[in-house]
Parts: sequence; structure tokens; C-alpha cells
Amino acid sequence: MSFQIALDGPAGAGKSTVAKAVAAALQFIYIDTGAMYRAMGLYFDSLGIDLDDESAIDSACPGASVTIAHQEGSQHIFLNGEDVTTAVRAEKAGMLASKTSAYGSVRRKLTSMQQEIAKVQNVVMDGRDIGTAVLPEAPLKVYLTASVEERARRRYLELKNKGQDPDLAEIAADIEQRDYQDMHREIAPLCQAEDAVYLDSSDLTAEQVVEKIVSLARERMNQE
Ligand code: C5P
Repeated sequence: MSFQIALDGPAGAGKSTVAKAVAAALQFIYIDTGAMYRAMGLYFDSLGIDLDDESAIDSACPGASVTIAHQEGSQHIFLNGEDVTTAVRAEKAGMLASKTSAYGSVRRKLTSMQQEIAKVQNVVMDGRDIGTAVLPEAPLKVYLTASVEERARRRYLELKNKGQDPDLAEIAADIEQRDYQDMHREIAPLCQAEDAVYLDSSDLTAEQVVEKIVSLARERMNQE
């Protein structure tokens, strides 16, 4: 039996940093489900589909093959055979994902892929609906969040360190818009699973969050 850690929360809460470190500490596989939704968003965009046209999205869905490979501990994501690991990180890909992830055909396709992956290996899976829809039986669920101001500040520093000239107010507005879209969609909206551990990382370092999750996972694995 595999052991799953479901890590959900809003954009910019530090999920991927934390999930990667937890996976490394426990020797689990890290699955970034946001990257899968981003790849789908890029796919629809590349076809020039109107993102408000649900039936066009539904018809195009089967034509996308999203696969994941792990190379030297890091996740690579492929869209119809092309490595889109870098392309999915663009701000635009996040917005495309937030919009197209609301559709049932997109969610069903990726949810079943994610469930298959988690069946056969120990995973730390991060996203928005992992504890509520993808792996509702996961033995450990964590809801990781932080204030909008703190999430915007982190993103601002990240872009600044990359030599860009970001606008803090614009970043905060984008985060708020994405939170709204993710929390108010009809299917699998972002929300805390009833049995998830709530962690607010606003005043915690990534190391403190990782330590907490690793120790919870070890406790639960001993109980299994
Ligand atoms: O986590 P990340 O910012 O990469 O996710 C991009 C978008 O993909 C999110 O804003 C959300 O709309 C969507 N997503 C989702 N369900 C997941 C993971 C991501 O709907 N499990």
C-alpha cells in the first residue's frame, strides 16, 4: 500500500518548495499537479481556442497528452512529447490554468491520471483539490496558506531576484483574482478538507513547515 500526503492551498503559499523538501526527506515522489493544469492551459492556448467555449475545450481535451517524468529528483512535464517544464512556469500559464481548470473534462482527465500515479508509489501531491477530490483517503492532508500580502511579497522578491522589475500591487491583485477563481468554481473548488491539518506559513520559515509535515507523516506512517 502506498502512502499519500495531500498538500493543498492557494497560489503562492509555498506548497511546491515545501512539497519538494518533504518528498526528499521521506524519499517520496513529488507530484506538482498545478504544472499539469498549466500544461493543459498552454495546450488550449496553442490551439487558439476561446477559453469561454466549454464544448471546444471538451472536444480538444483528448488530444492532449500530459506526462510526468522524474529526472534526478526533479519533475519534468511533457505536453504531447515536448518538455514544457520551463514554459509552464510563466505567469500567463498560471492564468490559463486557473481559467481552464474549471472545466469538468479537464479535471476528470487529470484527476484520474493523478489517482493512478498515487496508487503505485508514495507521493507528496500538491494542488487545490488533492485532499478533497483526488485523494480523499490520503492518510495525511495539509492545507497550507499565508496572507495575500505575504504571498505577494514572496513572489515579488522571487521575481526581483531573477532581475525583473515587478509591481507589488499588480502581483497582489493577480493572486487575489486567482484565489477567487479557484475558490468559486463549481467543480472541486479550493477548500480545506475537513480532516486536513491547517498551516499558516505567514510567520513560519519553509524549514519549519517542512519539519512539521515530515513529523506528522512519520507519526501517521507508524500508525498505518
Ligand atoms: O499551483 P499552480 O499555481 O501551479 O496552479 C495553477 C492553477 O491550476 C491554479 O490556479 C488552479 O486553477 C489549477 N489547479 C487546480 N487543481 C490542482 C492544481 C492546480 O485547479 N490540483
